[in-house]
Parts: sequence; C-alpha cells; structure tokens
Amino acid sequence: MAAGIFQAARLLAGAGHVTVFSGAGISVESGIPPFRGAGGLWSMVDPGFMEIDYFRRQPEQSWLRIKEIFYDYFGRALPNDAHFGVAAMEKAGLVKAIITQNIDNLHQRAGSREVIEFHGNSQWLVCLDCLEREAVSLGRLAVLPPRCPSCGGLLKPDFIFFGEGIPEKALQRSYQEVSRADVFLVIGSSGEVMPACQIPPLAKARGAKMIEINTVESHFTPISDIFLKGPATETVGALVKELGIR
Ligand code: NAD
Ligand code: ZN
Repeated sequence: MAAGIFQAARLLAGAGHVTVFSGAGISVESGIPPFRGAGGLWSMVDPGFMEIDYFRRQPEQSWLRIKEIFYDYFGRALPNDAHFGVAAMEKAGLVKAIITQNIDNLHQRAGSREVIEFHGNSQWLVCLDCLEREAVSLGRLAVLPPRCPSCGGLLKPDFIFFGEGIPEKALQRSYQEVSRADVFLVIGSSGEVMPACQIPPLAKARGAKMIEINTVESHFTPISDIFLKGPATETVGALVKELGIR
C-alpha cells in the first residue's frame, strides 16, 4: 500500500477540486455494520420494515425496528479517524465536498461542512403530512410512532426508505460535484446501490481521476486509477500523514 499512498497523496496534493464519495464502509470501524455481505445488517434483519409502503401501513411496527437499530444502537457510534481525516482534508482546503450515502451523521460530527446527504440523515424527522422537519430527540421517540407537533401527522426519519426517491437538492449538488471535481476519492462503498453508484463513474467519464479505499475490491475498482486496499481509518490516516495535514 505504501507506494499507492505516495501516488494518491501526490494526486490529491496537485488537485484543484477533490470530492469525497463515502459509503457504509467508512463507518464500519465506528461499529456500524454495512447493509450487504457477511455481518451486514440485512443478514441479521429483514429489510421489509424499511419499505415506504410498509411504513405507511404499519408505522408502529416499522418504528419499533427503526428505533432499535438506528437510534438505540447506531446512535451510540462516534466518528472514527477516517471521518476526522476527511474533515481535516476539507479544513486544509483540499476536499471541497463530501457526497455520502450514509445516514449516520458521522461526517458532520467529525467537523465536515459541505456534506451532501444523498440518502438523508437519521438525525432529522420529517412529517409526512406537512413536511415540517425537526431534530430527533429521545423525548420525541418515547411514544411510537412519533407524531408531528404541528399537525399530528406521522413522523418518519428523514432518510430514504426503499421505494423513495433521492432528495432533489442532493442530486443537483452531486451533479455539480461531478462537473467540478478533478479527483474523486471513494471510501468504503460497494458501488451496488442505485442511483448513488452512478456518480463516481460519471465524474470519471468527465475526466476526473479516481482513488478508491476499500478492504476488498468493489464495483468501482475496475475504473479506479489508484486502489488503496485497507481499512478506512488506517488508509485515510496514512494519506493525511503523507499530505502533511494536521
Ligand atoms: P455497502 O454496505 O453496500 O458496502 C460497504 C462497503 O464498505 C463494501 O464494499 C465493504 O467492502 C467496504 N468496507 C467494509 N469495511 C470497511 C472498512 N473498514 N474500510 C473501508 N471499506 C470497508 O455500502 P454502501 O455502498 O454505502 O451502500 C449501502 C447503503 O446502505 C447506502 O445506501 C447507505 O445509505 C446505507 N447504509 C448506511 C449506513 C450508515 O449510515 N453508516 C450503514 C449501512 C448502510
Ligand atoms: Zn406535520
């Protein structure tokens, strides 16, 4: 990996606009399992509770599961050195934006500012009737399903369920990154989730170079210019060190 780190750092240091694209893998070392593969969430629970139609029909059943997994369990996770490293690269002016598929808020908690939440964020609730949003609080989840304080409508976590579209603003901002980036740094994403997985190849097609960090080869690996095989914390840490940031 050492030669790869040197090359990748050189590419990053010479870039005018670096965009990070992150997936569930960046949060694995914070204790949040990915969805797919061995040890993934879907090997332990049936994803049916996150279908939007099921949620509307059986909000209490759906919410019991959601609260247990996304708030009681994932809610305890803390940002790791990969999140902090990405935030440091942004602070240093190198990284201009982070497109994340994650809903765990860990980039934001690590200090990243320009975070494009492709699949939403678990830290917000949205009313399905009046569309008002509010920050999630333990009190609001004491009685399930939670109800909107303004209109009594059903509150849903403001992240994408199966059967829902990508937030328009996140899509637009992602396409903007595709047109601006000269380097895409992909961290911990399998490249199997549509339509998010189309973003890095689009940037690549527009001439951006692509650096990928993953513990195993992914769908992105064949089009990556530099593949850094290893856990996100260690690899981002090595990059940040090589770049002389922090
Ligand atoms: P994925 O689950 O499809 O793939 C995760 C990738 O991370 C895999 O390629 C795996 O090899 C890699 N990986 C595992 N451990 C790693 C490590 N320590 N360092 C680097 N890479 C590692 O994830 P995805 O492509 O992001 O798609 C999953 C979907 O599920 C997304 O839509 C996302 O919204 C959602 N999701 C989010 C979270 C979260 O918010 N943390 C967690 C699980 C799933
Ligand atoms: Zn409402």
